[in-house]
Parts: sequence; structure tokens; C-alpha cells
Amino acid sequence: MNLIEISNLTASYNGHVALEKININIKEKEFICLVGENGSGKSTFIKSIVGLHKQDKGIIKTKIDPSQISYLEQFNVKSLDFPATVKEIIMTGMQIKKSKLFYTKEDYIAFDEICNTLRIKNIVNKKIGELSGGQRQRVLLARAMINKPKLLILDEPCSGLDVKISNKLYGILLDINKELGTTVVIAIHNVDELNKINEEKKVKIRVIHIAKNLKFDGNLLDWKGL
Ligand code: ADP
Ligand code: MG
Repeated sequence: MNLIEISNLTASYNGHVALEKININIKEKEFICLVGENGSGKSTFIKSIVGLHKQDKGIIKTKIDPSQISYLEQFNVKSLDFPATVKEIIMTGMQIKKSKLFYTKEDYIAFDEICNTLRIKNIVNKKIGELSGGQRQRVLLARAMINKPKLLILDEPCSGLDVKISNKLYGILLDINKELGTTVVIAIHNVDELNKINEEKKVKIRVIHIAKNLKFDGNLLDWKGL
């Protein structure tokens, strides 16, 4: 089943064309790596899907409820420095479905689960500003994942993280795709690292290479690189 159907998408900024005539369907349970050099249009593509950038032309059909989509924007985690605790930040991920006046027992169970998965249980009462870059990124990921979205869209979640932590994140994303059937779309620089982690997990990875136009769309095994 298609979750998102994109046909003939063209998007620009004040006449500067960032994406041109893109046709892509995103299906249930897929693991998609969105690749391309800096400025090739990955973020614009993602923002168009989640409704943050209005396309010039084309149709984007969303076949699932927006509450089932989580999006983590390309972000400099260093700027995340305000006096909220990790727990407070992650729990706001529960507000996506509907604004809640209080959290239920089930919400807190989901919180414990995601903190276990992302190995951040020991830091839940810390202020976000006290954490390392890798910890902050995992907190944002927990916030995006706590609602068990059907579609998880991450814009370069590993930029600025060291290889060890990136690899841990890749492992987690591959696992939730395999175990929960979550569709993952990740804009990524180094597909090789993810592919290494995938050697034992054997998830089928689809690569979409964008450079304004669609350059490649297929299995990672058939992709020749940028
Ligand atoms: P990527 O995420 O692959 O690095 P982007 O989607 O951010 O690429 O950018 C695609 C093109 O659109 C680039 O040429 C970039 O300079 C331009 N662009 C992106 N965001 C803006 C913006 N807010 N205003 C003007 N131009 C932008
Ligand atoms: Mg980008």
C-alpha cells in the first residue's frame, strides 16, 4: 500500500528551482535512503511531503493520517539549549495526535519503552542543555518515535554525531523497520556505514538519489554511488 504518492513535483525558492518533476511513491514498510550532495534538494523534498514547503507544481497525496507521520528536521543539536528536561521534551511527542491535558499510564509505558530502546533511561531527568550532541539527537529521535508513527522521516539525523553513535542509530532504525514495520525515510550522507550495519539485519534498502531531478530510484545493491 502506498503511504505517499508524489507525481510531477516541482518546487522552488523565489524562482530558484530546487526540485523538478519528481515522481515517487512511498510504500508501507519501506526503508528509504534519500541521498544527494548538499543543496541537491533532499530537505526540500522532505518539507514538501510534510507540508512545510508548498510545491509549484505536482500532486502529493498522503494516504495516511498526518498524526501517523513523524518528522525530524535537519537540525543543529548544539542550539538545543533551554531549561526543559529530557522527559518533558520526549513526552511532547505524545501531543502530535491530539493535545492532551494529561498523560495516561500507556503514554508513560511508551516513554519507558522508547528510552530503553534508545538507551537514554539514565538521562531522562537531565536538562537537554546538559547533554552531548549524540544524547540530544537520541532525545529528539525518541520524541519523534514515541507515538509509534507509521512513517518516520528523518532529515540527516546523524550529521554532527560520531560514527559510533550514528551506527547505533542506524541499528535502531533498521530494527524498528523490521520489527514494527515502520516506514523509514532518512536523508543521509554516508550510506556505506548504514549498509555495514545492515549486513546482519538484511533489511531491503531503497535508495532515492535526487539532484534536482530524480537520478536513481532502486535497491541499494544496484546503486553505483553519487
Ligand atoms: P539538501 O537538503 O539536499 O542539502 P535543500 O533542499 O536544502 O538541499 O536545497 C535545495 C536547493 O534549494 C539549494 O540550491 C538551496 O540553496 C535552495 N534552498 C533551500 N532552502 C532555501 C531557502 N529557505 N531559501 C532559498 N533557497 C533555498
Ligand atoms: Mg538538507
